[in-house]
Amino acid sequence: MNASESADVVVIGGGIIGCSVALHLARAMPTSRVIVLDRGSIAGATSSSCMGHLMVTPDSAAEFALSHRSVKLWGELNEQIGGFDYNPTGALYLADTAEDLALLPVLQKQFADCGDRAQVLDPKQLRAMEPGLAHDLPGALFYRGDGVVLPMTACSAMLRLGQRHNARLQARPGTTVTGFDYHGGKVTAVKTTNGTIATGNAVIACGVWTPAVAKLAGLPDLPIVPRAGNLAITAHHATPIRTQLLEVSYIRFAHGTAQADPRKTNADTGGHAVNMQPQSLGGCLIGSTRQFRGMDTTINRELLHRSLQRAIRYAPSLADLPIVRTWVGLRPYSIDKHPLIGPWPGTQGLWIASGHEGLGISLSMITGELLTQQMTGQQCSVDPTPYLPGRCA
Ligand SMILES: Cc1cc2nc3c(=O)[nH]c(=O)nc-3n(C[C@H](O)[C@H](O)[C@H](O)COP(=O)(O)OP(=O)(O)OC[C@H]3O[C@@H](n4cnc5c(N)ncnc54)[C@H](O)[C@@H]3O)c2cc1C
Repeated sequence: MNASESADVVVIGGGIIGCSVALHLARAMPTSRVIVLDRGSIAGATSSSCMGHLMVTPDSAAEFALSHRSVKLWGELNEQIGGFDYNPTGALYLADTAEDLALLPVLQKQFADCGDRAQVLDPKQLRAMEPGLAHDLPGALFYRGDGVVLPMTACSAMLRLGQRHNARLQARPGTTVTGFDYHGGKVTAVKTTNGTIATGNAVIACGVWTPAVAKLAGLPDLPIVPRAGNLAITAHHATPIRTQLLEVSYIRFAHGTAQADPRKTNADTGGHAVNMQPQSLGGCLIGSTRQFRGMDTTINRELLHRSLQRAIRYAPSLADLPIVRTWVGLRPYSIDKHPLIGPWPGTQGLWIASGHEGLGISLSMITGELLTQQMTGQQCSVDPTPYLPGRCA
């Protein structure tokens, strides 16, 4: 090893996950040298090609604990630094059909089983809360705990706050990691296009590129694959919506077992369940489709069109707003549906924080907290067992 400099921790990947890990490390280790590397710009990949719904998921007690803690930490981050359009709108799960309507009390019970509350709204109550929605909608479930953020500005807020806690925290865009050095089963350095950094700890937080970077570290093929999502945003006219909105079927579609084989890139015709977010400047962000098709980021016009039709079904005046931009982001989908957060077994100093699929913004704060708690030997705020990367070893 011929290292030109050294760091206590090198975080690889400057997306929302890497930035949150850096923030939490900087807080817990205020005099240590922490360097965040990204081959592109900070928040230049999935974390700027996504939506910003902070979602509490009641799918199971463990997932509720993880997401609830994370969304709480987002509120605290807003109080500590702000600057990322934090808007605690709550979420409305919208019904369209009788089948959807039957799902509302089921979801309400899931929240209740987790010790929280959500309210079933009749059409009148729904209209009072969201006057811009179609008048024939049969009802909705309102959950107060969710919110919306602008993820790319949140990444820089996390780094700025981290630097307030630890002046030695540095972010280096334009630096690609090309390899690792080991000695006696321990990480000793991270090799980059701008030189080698001696370090005892490397965190791989590379989203859909995590398997490729893990391979450079000698790990087996990690089960994280890209899942594409098409998005559209309207012009900054007054948006017809105030709340984070989603079809109630979204939970089944997005969090249920994928219908297609995630590893086959040409077998998935894709699907959609609408998700709409009011933007602080007045526009409306509309998603969200899901399709496994490798690293392809071309728009699937047919799928996007279907998803926009659903949005107009719920908020008819959206049809009058021009769409100013459409794009595709790649969710890092973990095949067993749980993110990987923690140490890689058998190699001291190698850590993984990745595979959050469509919940990476929501779960970024708890991911940074959990990884830091594990690295510094503190008690974890949430049981980390389901997320330990060792299950893929
Ligand atoms: C359409 C869509 C909608 C979404 N909506 C939501 C939502 O509403 N709420 C929510 O919670 N989540 C949402 N998500 C999910 C969320 O965006 C992701 O889970 C999250 O952004 C992943 O962050 P990340 O830091 O893991 O990955 P990324 O943001 O992709 O960051 C990884 C970084 O690693 C860098 N990198 C890769 N290889 C190297 C290397 N060799 N050397 C150095 N750097 C490297 C890349 O340049 C990249 O910047 C959505 C995603 C999509 C696509």
